[in-house]
Amino acid sequence: MARLFEYQGKEFLKAGGIAIPVGEVASTAQEAHEVAFRIGKPVAVKAQVWVGGRGKAGAVKLANTPEEAEKTSTAILGMELKGFPVRKVLVEEMLNIDKEYYLGIIADGSRESRCPMLMFSTEGGMEIEVVPEDKIFRLKIDYPRGLPFYDALDLASSAGIPNRLLREMAGIISKAVEVFKKRDCNILEINPIILTREGKLVAGDCRMAIDDNSTFRHPEMGITIPREFPWEPTDFDRVGWGIEETDLRGSGFVMRMSLDETSSGYIGFHAIGGGAAMIGMDALSRVGLKPANFADTSGNPVASKIYRVAKVILSQPHIEGYMLAGFMIGNQEQWHHAHALVKALREELPKRPGFPCVLLLAGNKEEESLQILKEGLKGLPGLIEIYGSQHVEDSDFIGKRMLALIKEYKRKRNQRGFYDARV
Ligand code: GDP
Ligand code: MN
Repeated sequence: MARLFEYQGKEFLKAGGIAIPVGEVASTAQEAHEVAFRIGKPVAVKAQVWVGGRGKAGAVKLANTPEEAEKTSTAILGMELKGFPVRKVLVEEMLNIDKEYYLGIIADGSRESRCPMLMFSTEGGMEIEVVPEDKIFRLKIDYPRGLPFYDALDLASSAGIPNRLLREMAGIISKAVEVFKKRDCNILEINPIILTREGKLVAGDCRMAIDDNSTFRHPEMGITIPREFPWEPTDFDRVGWGIEETDLRGSGFVMRMSLDETSSGYIGFHAIGGGAAMIGMDALSRVGLKPANFADTSGNPVASKIYRVAKVILSQPHIEGYMLAGFMIGNQEQWHHAHALVKALREELPKRPGFPCVLLLAGNKEEESLQILKEGLKGLPGLIEIYGSQHVEDSDFIGKRMLALIKEYKRKRNQRGFYDARV
């Protein structure tokens, strides 16, 4: 699910006729200072990340002056929220809050609904999960019809919105449904809709996610990879996505797991299947190693696709080893993996003499596959161990072998002359 930042979502709300606070996004504290100066009033500084609960985490702060905004931004830009580094802040005019409301629309695929489900509550500002059930008003949205203004009036009135605000609130609700449709959203949440002390209703926050299959219709969103990403995609991720995008034969999913390239213990991680990936990551973490990337080649991909994924994994300069985590008895013909790895490792290992590789692969055509690996990798300057179904349930063993090879690699790497074969 491709997510948008709050500041992007708010632009789409504004284009749809919903009032938002005056504000601009900033990537540095200096820029935040400039934005606050331009706004010329006290501001709110808000971390732009794809997680909620920023308020509670101290990632939404108020600042009275541009200097304060700069200081606050320095702190927020240095934060990490649930593992998401903060790269941008939204600086917007501070609102004087009288009351907060909740509005959410989600694509509800459950059998009972199969339509967008709208939720509205007079108890906004907190997460919807903690709002009492009798305070949430739900409405199924007929997609082609949208939500006509008079239906929105009905809803707002049943929810207890006072008469003087009814038309304005109904306008927001009905326009939000239009935005949801126009931008192909899966989720559109405005929490809170803020009633200011001056009596105006303004979208205080915006969480928006777009249907992956529709992103091509929305160049205005700048989504390069239609997938849920923990941060803006890196070059590595873009190259990885290129493999998947251009070849639909089986899946070849690869993405970065960490932006840290300076610590040690990172492994080029290549799993066969999602379950195998989880087992493999556990195996690594139990011995204190970390996957530099996530990768999964399954669903019977062709060798050329697996080869491209392996090459991308091996392009990471900081990895200390390579693990093929085939922790499953695959019914796909595993020799495609064997051929792919032989080609990739034959090209890459001469550049990294002594590089540790633990290759586990089991299932259909296993014997032939192991044979292809053994033959094909013979004589390469790596520390390579190859395992089959005897070890498919033995994640402890595979993890320990990876660690042992890395230790050996490091010891040898320090010996004189070991690097000579490089360049
Ligand atoms: P979330 O915690 O990630 O959902 O971030 P929100 O954008 O919803 O902000 C959390 C809370 O911060 C809101 O519910 C408000 O109570 C408060 N807040 C956000 N912007 C302002 C503002 O401009 N003025 C004031 N007084 N409070 C704000
Ligand atoms: Mn919110």
